[in-house]
Amino acid sequence: MTAVSSAPSTSTSFDLGPARALSCRECGHETPLAPEYACQECFGPLEVAYDFGRVRREDIEAGPRSIWRYKGLLPVPSTVSAHPNTEPGGTRLIQADNLAKALGVRKLWVKDDTGNPTHSFKDRVVGVALAAARELGFRVLACPSTGNLANAVAAAAARAGWQSVVLVPSSLERAKILMSAVYDGSLITIDGTYDDVNRVAQELAAENEDWAFVNVNVRPYYAEGSKTLGYEVAEQLGWRLPEQIVIPIASGSQLTKVDKAFREFGSLGLVDETPYRVFGAQATGCSPVSTAFKAGHDTVVPVRPDTIARSLAIGAPADGPYALDSVRRTGGAIEDVTDEEVVEGIRLLARTEGVFAETAGGVTVATAKKLIESGKLDPDAETVLLITGDGLKTLDALGDRVGPRATVAASADAVINALKD
Ligand SMILES: *Cc1c(COP(=O)(O)O)cnc(C)c1O
Ligand SMILES: [Zn+2]
Repeated sequence: MTAVSSAPSTSTSFDLGPARALSCRECGHETPLAPEYACQECFGPLEVAYDFGRVRREDIEAGPRSIWRYKGLLPVPSTVSAHPNTEPGGTRLIQADNLAKALGVRKLWVKDDTGNPTHSFKDRVVGVALAAARELGFRVLACPSTGNLANAVAAAAARAGWQSVVLVPSSLERAKILMSAVYDGSLITIDGTYDDVNRVAQELAAENEDWAFVNVNVRPYYAEGSKTLGYEVAEQLGWRLPEQIVIPIASGSQLTKVDKAFREFGSLGLVDETPYRVFGAQATGCSPVSTAFKAGHDTVVPVRPDTIARSLAIGAPADGPYALDSVRRTGGAIEDVTDEEVVEGIRLLARTEGVFAETAGGVTVATAKKLIESGKLDPDAETVLLITGDGLKTLDALGDRVGPRATVAASADAVINALKD
């Protein structure tokens, strides 16, 4: 590809809506809004800090049915909804009575984020990253990815008329590779784990200042997009917080940002500040955060992933320690489930609610089941499960466990006979 675009602007006055500065999560040092992600003082991760004006329910409700109804709470220009984009968000919150019954809980909701443009919640973070990157002066969208992010970046770049450079492990599911390649950006598959791919991206981001690696050098802005999942859940529940929420963990970013969204809604007076507990879900074959939680540790020891839940297969999760903080502060827990349980989770959700989730969704459902059985999730408290990706992306995970009841000759009798078996 030809990357002949201008380097990011060095102007210090970007219009990123309510965003005021970048602030270090470790030492609190503040720096002006810029394409930066590490603190100059301590190398800690930077996070967007805001000056929210008055935010009213009516203004949000009058907005588009997408993540842009929350633009007053995101680091994006106020004109963002006028830009071409993929308009993620506005996905269904399903009252999951059948699944609730199967799991033995009283009130359960499924947030079905398979309904996004590229069928995972990653469209939310990419929407925000692209809007911020445009304002920051970038013209190439890039990422290292476990699959879903690659799909979202390639599609959003195509629609915005940007070049894209997408890096994924070569072992990825075929559907996720095709779904990244079809948009005709530059897809590169790398022989290695996601953590190897991420290391290559860090090097490339340092050398190519005009490439917006959404989850590397634009990460502080990108990560804020996950807040929209929390905002939507609270708004769809009728402007209130759930009592419990179960969230899958890859890097741990989504979990921390949903927690942040609930706190922001509370402090802005958009919802009552009722207590809620955040629960994390991992696959046992890549469970560094769950392991740290159970051991009572603050640090997360990297692992080499080995699980069918490839979208969650980050062995060295950047936001792992912050996810531990969120879960411990709210009184939740983190649990992990085997690949066998993941498949059972996918099938349970499908047969009870008619929702076909990818392996990450299987992780969430199976973890919720395990947390209920161990008494960590309160069966009487209202619970939300985040289903973050579509089962069409991970068909192979089901293997031959799911298939036709019978294959018969073309006759009505043959069908009736088969149904008797
Ligand atoms: C990326 C991803 C997650 C979790 O992302 P974090 O890195 O923890 O923010 C969850 N589910 C799916 C399907 C994903 O693709
Ligand atoms: Zn710092």
